[in-house]
Amino acid sequence: MLNLLRQIVQEVNNAGDLDAALGILVDRVQQAMNTEVCSVYVYNAKTKRHILRATKGLNAASVGKVSLSNNEGLVGFVAAREEPINLDDASKHPKYHFLSGTGEEKFNSFLGVPIINQKRILGVLVVQQSDRRKFDESEEAFMVTMSAQLAGVLAHAEATGQVLERPDQFKKKKVKQDVVVKGAAAAPGIAIGTVVVLSPTADLYDVPDRTAQNVDDEILRFKHAIDGARMQIKQVGEALKDLRPEEQALFDVYIRMLDDDALGSEVTRRIKENNQWAQGALRDVIFEYVAHFDKMDDAYLRERATDIKDLGARVLAQLQDTIELVSDVDFPEHTILVSEELTPSMLGEVPENKLVALVSAKGSANSHVAILARAMGIPTIMGAVDLPVKQMDGIKLVVDGYRGHLYTHPSPRMLEQFQAIVEEEKALVQGLEAIKELPAQTTDGHRLKLLVNTGLITDAYRSLDKGAEGVGLYRTEVPFMMRDRFPSETEQANIYRSQLEAFAPQPVTMRTLDIGGDKALSYFPIEEDNPFLGWRGIRVTLDHPEIFLLQVRAMLKASHGLNNLKIMLPMITSTSEVEEALHFIYRAYQEVIEEGIEVEMPEVGVMIEVPAAVYQAKQLASMVDFLSVGSNDLTQYLLAVDRNNPRVAGLYDSFHPSVLAALQHIVNAGKSENCPVSVCGEMAGNPAGALILMAMGYDMLSMNATNVPRVKSVLRSTDLIYAQEVLSDVMQLDSAQVIGSTLELALNKLGQSRMLGPRAT
Ligand code: PEP
Ligand code: MG
Repeated sequence: MLNLLRQIVQEVNNAGDLDAALGILVDRVQQAMNTEVCSVYVYNAKTKRHILRATKGLNAASVGKVSLSNNEGLVGFVAAREEPINLDDASKHPKYHFLSGTGEEKFNSFLGVPIINQKRILGVLVVQQSDRRKFDESEEAFMVTMSAQLAGVLAHAEATGQVLERPDQFKKKKVKQDVVVKGAAAAPGIAIGTVVVLSPTADLYDVPDRTAQNVDDEILRFKHAIDGARMQIKQVGEALKDLRPEEQALFDVYIRMLDDDALGSEVTRRIKENNQWAQGALRDVIFEYVAHFDKMDDAYLRERATDIKDLGARVLAQLQDTIELVSDVDFPEHTILVSEELTPSMLGEVPENKLVALVSAKGSANSHVAILARAMGIPTIMGAVDLPVKQMDGIKLVVDGYRGHLYTHPSPRMLEQFQAIVEEEKALVQGLEAIKELPAQTTDGHRLKLLVNTGLITDAYRSLDKGAEGVGLYRTEVPFMMRDRFPSETEQANIYRSQLEAFAPQPVTMRTLDIGGDKALSYFPIEEDNPFLGWRGIRVTLDHPEIFLLQVRAMLKASHGLNNLKIMLPMITSTSEVEEALHFIYRAYQEVIEEGIEVEMPEVGVMIEVPAAVYQAKQLASMVDFLSVGSNDLTQYLLAVDRNNPRVAGLYDSFHPSVLAALQHIVNAGKSENCPVSVCGEMAGNPAGALILMAMGYDMLSMNATNVPRVKSVLRSTDLIYAQEVLSDVMQLDSAQVIGSTLELALNKLGQSRMLGPRAT
């Protein structure tokens, strides 16, 4: 049963559009259930009717013609109740409504299950037969399982179909304009530009459609790639000398598959006939083979699909290497980088002056790539799951990074509207220039320190420009992520030195390596079922003193003569971790002194990012020189919401009353020990968040450079008493949404709601 389910879902998934998907669906379910009829009714939210969109067994001519309103007939009743209905004689049911012309009068029994995705009813799946018998429990369970699995697939097909829909099939050039696709607002700003699709690794699923510049060159590239892959497989086989002969023979099979004329000649034919680039042709051929093998009933033959996929990925890797994917792409003036899954290293692939926006189908606003994008001030949308990424290369796009909306093929009206917002934004930024040199001080003289979060050296220069007073969080893992091996002590010292020098004499708070979770190093892979609850941050570095000591030594040496270094420990959950880390830091310090380099012992602080640390904040504060709240992870762990998962992104909210209560508790605990406390998560850079953090008693906030002037503008427009009144109001509220709106209103009263970004779109 499970195999059958998987097979049907996969076939539906691979269908080209919604109609093809529904056609396959009714066909396969009718076969699997061995019924006379299987139909699917799709709900149209505009007309509020369930339309017969595909059927096997009813009169095909009524497809698209008959429909039922909500709660009308059995189909409408299933949808309204959001529950299956299983009847042996449908016509006896009070809700029965005869649909003339469908031929359904012949059928007596009826089983209808709703198709629901993320609380939204998409339609109803129905099977019918003439026998007067109720469908049994296992049949009903099969239909419910099938419908639950298909809901996401259908929702996706429906949404992507919208983007690709052509109003006139004959005038192919005329595409539907201004189709909106929603994702998570990950970095603010508006951008208008042209899409370039990049694939992260050698993943066939991410290869975009692209026409061949030169067919002969593409064929030659493909031939080289096949040779390269063959050589590689041979080497892998030879290197694994301990394998038994029958296992070694597998490599011969692989090589023979490459020798086989079928695969190679099929790809070459497609390049020629469809004027396709080699990567796209390879993708299509491999997927066809895979679909063919996947359908086989024999388990051994089905497994061949995996071999073919693997082979395809190897050839693709060769192709991407040969053509040097990145340098080969001709980036347009206003490039919008679109990818199935954006990675931090991709950001560096486009010349900085050409990159205007980023869009990723996977990930969320809290992914590290989004944090980097915010640091670089590039409007970004994450988790745009309904984006047909592969078909988007070269199209025009508007990205609204404030609301997380993007618009494909924008009409002149839409372009004009967004161009006006771009101009307004420019004017706002210029206006903020005026307060660059002024302190972040309230009208009644309460002074706050605004610091920046950095990761790249370019962040440092950008920050100085914005009037930052030091670095509250330098994410040292960023330079580690940009390499293919651990940087040496000298390499690290050089990188750290440039950060310290850029800000001296102001402080630079360097966080020790915080990898794990969603931050992977290609050369130090960590495979875990629950990476956010696993080997992350300080846990990794305490288990690897050689990495920790080397990093701290590099930091200390870099601070020689500047003495503006502070060291911060991520993901602390217990006092013993702090003791152990302090011990290593003292040891590294002694070693540096023994080498004859006179440096000062830096201040050491702890990040409060997990609930355990919240409740031990007082004890932790007594052990170190400062505390800094990582509100991104703190929100994730308090609310048990993965910060990267778009499915639950709506639940991730740092204004949740429990998060606010924790934040108040931490600052009180720190102050009771005379220990300075700051916030360095994204909440600090939100002008509304900054207002209440100041009221709670935080006296240092660290944020992305782009937000410094906005936060400063808000703080300079208020007095502390007003901020405290707002805080006391929101602390009485029990819903994150209501708190968010209350804060927006509070900024409005200060005449500062513009600092939250444009709302007029
Ligand atoms: C945080 O968790 O809030 C934080 C600042 O650290 P990061 O986002 O790098 O995990
Ligand atoms: Mg963190």
